[in-house]
This record gives sequence, structure tokens and C-alpha cells, in this order.
Amino acid sequence: MPASMNASNVTLSEQFIDNVWVPSRGNKYRPVLDPYHESLLAEVTCGDPADVDLAVIAAQRALPGWRATPEATRGEYLEAIASGLETRRHPLAELSTRNNGKPLAEAYQDLDDAIACYRYYAKVTVALGQRQGTVEEAGQRDLEARHYWDAIGIVGLITPWNFPLVSSAWKLAPALAAGCTVVFKPSEITPLPERVLAEIVMEAGLPPGVLNLLLGDGEGIGAPLSRHPGIDKLSFTGSNAVGEAVMSAAAQGVRPVSLELGGKSPILVTEDADLGLARDLVMAGICYNAGQMCSATSRLLVHERLADDLYSAIDAAMAELHLGAPMTQGTDMGPLVNASQRERVQGYMAIANEEGLISETPALALPERGFFVAPRLYREVPTTSRLWREEIFGPLLCARRVANDDEAIALANDSDFGLAATVVADEPDHAASIARRLEAGNVWCNSDQVAPPQGSWGGMKRSGIGRELGDSGLNAYLELKRITRPIKH
Ligand code: NAD
Repeated sequence: MPASMNASNVTLSEQFIDNVWVPSRGNKYRPVLDPYHESLLAEVTCGDPADVDLAVIAAQRALPGWRATPEATRGEYLEAIASGLETRRHPLAELSTRNNGKPLAEAYQDLDDAIACYRYYAKVTVALGQRQGTVEEAGQRDLEARHYWDAIGIVGLITPWNFPLVSSAWKLAPALAAGCTVVFKPSEITPLPERVLAEIVMEAGLPPGVLNLLLGDGEGIGAPLSRHPGIDKLSFTGSNAVGEAVMSAAAQGVRPVSLELGGKSPILVTEDADLGLARDLVMAGICYNAGQMCSATSRLLVHERLADDLYSAIDAAMAELHLGAPMTQGTDMGPLVNASQRERVQGYMAIANEEGLISETPALALPERGFFVAPRLYREVPTTSRLWREEIFGPLLCARRVANDDEAIALANDSDFGLAATVVADEPDHAASIARRLEAGNVWCNSDQVAPPQGSWGGMKRSGIGRELGDSGLNAYLELKRITRPIKH
């Protein structure tokens, strides 16, 4: 295992700037934990605004060269990053599991998603080169107009802890493909897998300053990065509270933002849905990553004819889950990422008790150690309950029975959020007709939550601004320029 991945009890006090590790100016540290063993993996610097200054200067220096690098060459670098991840697939998946607590099989899926994303944008950047100079439909007089897409400049990228290497790939790959240079801040909770990117970048031979990686927390790095005048655009994934702070900071200097924020996504089960399929999709939507998913389908709206049977099937499936060591094969659910995340979820369980919410989910025995919370289904939760309205970010599912599709759709849309939704129906056409009426950026019909790189990801309403992945994900890092000139005769 390379030294960078052998993270036990190390102090991470350096920042990756200009392709070298330099000491952080910060003098505060935070523990990085293994959430299953509740043990210390490392201590990480909280960072310092002076680190941000240095990284921005490096990104500024690198911008002209990277912007001018032919798209096909940028694509080769992205392909090299994908290969770097692929070579380290096993140790990186293990490191991610140790740091985040997710079952190893899920960490492998993350790695594969990240690799696919870099590979996809390696191709997309070649296509970008081919569309530069597209001639506009013939217009006025003897003028010809052509369209060009320029890199937006230096971008600040900030990510959370729930999908290490994936959230970062969804930003880094299109930003680099577009020709932007980057200052990237991963979550201080899961820095271990993310910092290996520095090693991969060096191995891939990216020019110095193109990708700078700053370890630290919100105060030491996140806020100073958001307000830094040298940053031309911010792309943030995380909570709504911090998203609003990032957006306010970006208002200074009128800098654009992309925001991927929270969710309270519904899963709708119609009268004639297949019960087994509904149970499986409900379970995956609330139990994957222990429910720590922005797109967790945490509100179940089920037709009254199926409700009791589905509730019983979900309770039985939850009771059969194996909660345990995330590294061990056969574990269905690992611990939550840390003690404060567990306290947050337990806080909602206390509210459920105060509100007298009904749960018949059998109590699961929890492992002796680790920040575990057992999954639970609450039945007929009032729409005024905080459990129904707020993002919990854990394996707590709220359910209501409905009389028909119209009622389900109305309740599904009665939310501040609009990130995702699932519809389970007899016929895909029936499900799709419901999907068209839902206020959500992604709707899966009779399908699990696939998010391929050529797709799109992002939310309506308070779930965010903009889209990641696909062409939209690339356009988020580009400015369209129109050049008009007389036609040569
Ligand atoms: P968070 O908002 O606490 O932190 C996210 C990132 O912001 C971290 O890197 C953190 O250090 C940084 N940060 C903290 N304070 C900051 C500040 N003042 N300025 C700038 N940066 C700051 O979120 P989290 O707990 O890491 O992640 C969970 C949240 O992320 C949930 O709300 C979840 O829904 C959301 N999320 C959304 C998506 C999506 O695609 N929509 C994906 C994953 C997670």
C-alpha cells in the first residue's frame, strides 16, 4: 500500500499547491476517525486563509497555459487520472470504507462511478474542441457569427463527506475538461481518500497549479475560499445552511455559483405496483450509505390498498439487515460517519417519540462499537412533523398512505426540496406520466438510483442551483462567447 494510503495515526499538516506538498499555515487540527472502530486514523489541519491565498496564486499562474492546452490533450490528462484511480481501486475503496464507514461494496461502486466520470469527461472535452467555432444559423446582412466556449477561470470546489471521490469527480472532471484551474477543498471528515488525488495528479503529469487541494474545515478553508476575490466561480455540494453562506460570499464580485444541496425526496408506490419491487426500491432508497444520501427517498407515499402489506414487508426487510463491520462481506449497513451525525439522527428519533409517531420496525441489535443507528419506518407521519419535512440524513423512513395518484403527487411536491424522486408503478408509462408532474431534478421509474456520467444531477427549489454531469456539468465551467464578423466573399 502506498504511504499516502497508510493513514493510521498520521498528522496531515500539508497542502497540495503547485504540485508540491507545502506546510499549512494553520495551527489547529481535527481528528479523522474510523466510524466503525471509533478510533483515530489521522489528525488533519484545519487550514488557514493564507493557504487559500497561495493556492489561488498557483491556480492563477497555471490558468493561461491550461486554458490554451488543446482539448484533446486535456482529455489525455483526465484519462490518466481515471487510470490512476483504477490502479488504486482496491486500496482506495478500503481507505474510503475505513474513513467513511460505508460497506466496502458501496465504496467500490463509488470508485467505479468516479473512474467512469473522469473517462466520460476525457471524451467530452474532445467533443468540446470539435464544437468550438460552430457557425450560427445565417442571420443579418453580411455577418457571420460563431460560438466559442471559454473556461470560466479559476474555480473553487467544495465537497461533503458522504460520497468521497464521487462528489469531487463530478466537479473536478468537468472543470479540468473545460480548461479551468482549480482550488479543491474536500470535507475535513473524509480527507484520506481525497488527498490521494494529489498523488494521482502528479503521476498523471498535470502541470503545476492546475489542481490544488486544500485540507481543512469550513472556517480555515471553506469560507476564505468562498470569499476569495481571485476565485471566478464556486461549485459547492453540502448542506443548505452552508450553501447559503457560499452564495452570499459569491455575491461579492458577482461570481457565479453552482449548488448541490439537501433533499427530502419522495418514493411513490401506486395501487398496482409490484410489492417486491416496491420494497426493494424503498429499502435501497433509505438504507444505502445508511441513509446518508442527498437523494435518499425518505418520504414514502403508498396507495392505501398496498400500504399495510408494504409496511410489513419493509419492517421485515429492515429486521433482516446485517449491521456490522463495513469491511466484512455480508454487511448491509455500516455506521453513520461520526458521533455528531448519530446524535442528529437520534435527535429526530426523540422528536418522533415526543410526537407519538408509530414505528413497528423490530429493534435491531446494534454492534457494540461504531456510530450505528438502526433503520426504522414511521407510519402515517403527519405532514407537519419535522420528520416529514426536514432532511434527516440517516435511515429513518416516514410513510403515508394515499387514496390515488393525484394525492400522492400533491404530497410529494409539498416540500421545500426538489432533488429526486422514485415512482413504482405497474407500467413504465404510468410511472413516467407521474414523473412528469413531480418537482424533482431526477426521477427514477421502477429503477434504482442510477446516476451515469452522461446524465444530469441537481435539484429544483431549495435543493440547489444548476446541474452536474453530462453536458450541463461541463457548461457549468464554461462561458459562451459569440464572435460576429463580416462574411468574406
Ligand atoms: P456541510 O455543508 O456541513 O459541509 C460541506 C462542505 O462545506 C465541507 O467541505 C465543509 O468543510 C464546507 N464548509 C463548512 N462551512 C463552510 C463555510 N462557511 N463556507 C464554505 N464551506 C464550508 O455538509 P456535509 O455535512 O458535509 O454534507 C451533508 C449535506 O450535503 C447534506 O445536506 C446533503 O444533502 C448534502 N449533499 C448534497 C448532494 C447533492 O448532490 N445535492 C450530495 C451530497 C451531499
